[in-house]
Amino acid sequence: PKARVVVVGGGYGGAIAAKYLRMSDPDIRVTLIEKDSAYVSCPLSNEVLGGERDLASLTFDYRGLTRRGIAVMQDTVIEIDPAQHVVKGAGGNRYNYDKLIVSPGVDYDWAAIEGMSEAVAERIPHAWKAGKQTQILRRQLEAMEDGGVFYIVAPPNPFRCPPGPYERAAQVAHYFSTHKSKSKIVILDAKDAFSKQGLFQAGWQEHYGDMIEWVSGAQGGIIEAIDPETRTLMGSFEEFRGDVINLIPHQKAGALAQTAGLANESGWCPVDQRTFESSIHKDIHVIGDACIAGAMPKSGYSANSQGKVCAAAVVAAINGDAPPAPSYVNTCYSIIAPEHGISVAGVYRLDDGRIVDIPGAGGVSPADADARTRALEQQFALDWFRNITSDMFT
Ligand code: FAD
Repeated sequence: PKARVVVVGGGYGGAIAAKYLRMSDPDIRVTLIEKDSAYVSCPLSNEVLGGERDLASLTFDYRGLTRRGIAVMQDTVIEIDPAQHVVKGAGGNRYNYDKLIVSPGVDYDWAAIEGMSEAVAERIPHAWKAGKQTQILRRQLEAMEDGGVFYIVAPPNPFRCPPGPYERAAQVAHYFSTHKSKSKIVILDAKDAFSKQGLFQAGWQEHYGDMIEWVSGAQGGIIEAIDPETRTLMGSFEEFRGDVINLIPHQKAGALAQTAGLANESGWCPVDQRTFESSIHKDIHVIGDACIAGAMPKSGYSANSQGKVCAAAVVAAINGDAPPAPSYVNTCYSIIAPEHGISVAGVYRLDDGRIVDIPGAGGVSPADADARTRALEQQFALDWFRNITSDMFT
């Protein structure tokens, strides 16, 4: 082969980078290393919490990528040796690379909230990685008595999926309103503002009345500690006792990015935003949630767009060409009710080494849209999911 490219992480970023490398230049040998045998999508996983779908509908295997000639290895990468250009797997396998692309997603900063830990998350789930965690939270919501209070603790910026906690509140409200209508949802937020805020608050009110309450950081929403035994959250002014608590932890780049020394003091990975090559280690590219990508939010669609830009840059480098001029895109849909979708979209370009928004090329759904438009956007959300997962896995 002309060159060996190893991709670590078969999620929204890595699966796409591997596929587009392979499609662009069949002479490159592409290996995708993923620790799990199947991928469970976070997008649409809030619908599992709302009881509208099951996890099976969000689960994908890697046979489609294998059929394309990508060597898919189920292995956990424990070490990267940037000097020797070698990746090491947990079972002792070694993978040599000329270029490496890493898309490990996020990891959690447990120390930020006293009393939290990975073990406690078995009882106080985050459900910020879809799969077992989603199931734990769904079961707790099902077991909760009517009249109970469900707390969502929303993290500070930056974090995976900025509209996610607020869509989650709506999906759970949909379930409560049809199954336990005396219950309440309180979002305790580390922030004073959030994505698509006006659209969310109007949608919550329209469909669920006063069921959802949002407490900003300034109003006391910042949580400092938790007692998991009594399910009590300690804020700066007040304590909150919940029947069910979904604590979404503070976030940083995935564990591998930390151990491989790809992250800086911010917890995230600095990259050349034209090629996604690490600013710290040569010939290693970081894409998806783990990287610092200017104005782009941490979303599956951003990771997809970055995967394509990165693959094109890596192919160019292997062939001795300059990287092509990049263009990037993102849309985040949120489903507030069965016939009510909203979105935020952005198109981006490189400006002086930084990814910036192109003014006027994106925006949010109109505040005064009619019911037909809201229903169409809900359909678009489902169509987006079908398209992007078929892009990744077939
Ligand atoms: P991931 O998709 O998490 O992929 C990382 C992969 O790397 C995983 O498969 C993991 O197993 C693997 N991995 C990690 N470490 C190793 C290792 N050491 N060795 C081997 N494999 C490893 N985005 C949208 O665009 N639209 C949405 O509607 C949307 N909704 C969301 C709703 C929720 C509730 C949440 C939590 C997120 C949502 N997102 C959405 C965000 C989206 O899920 C992430 O931004 C996206 O998954 C990021 O892709 P990634 O490749 O960086 O990480």
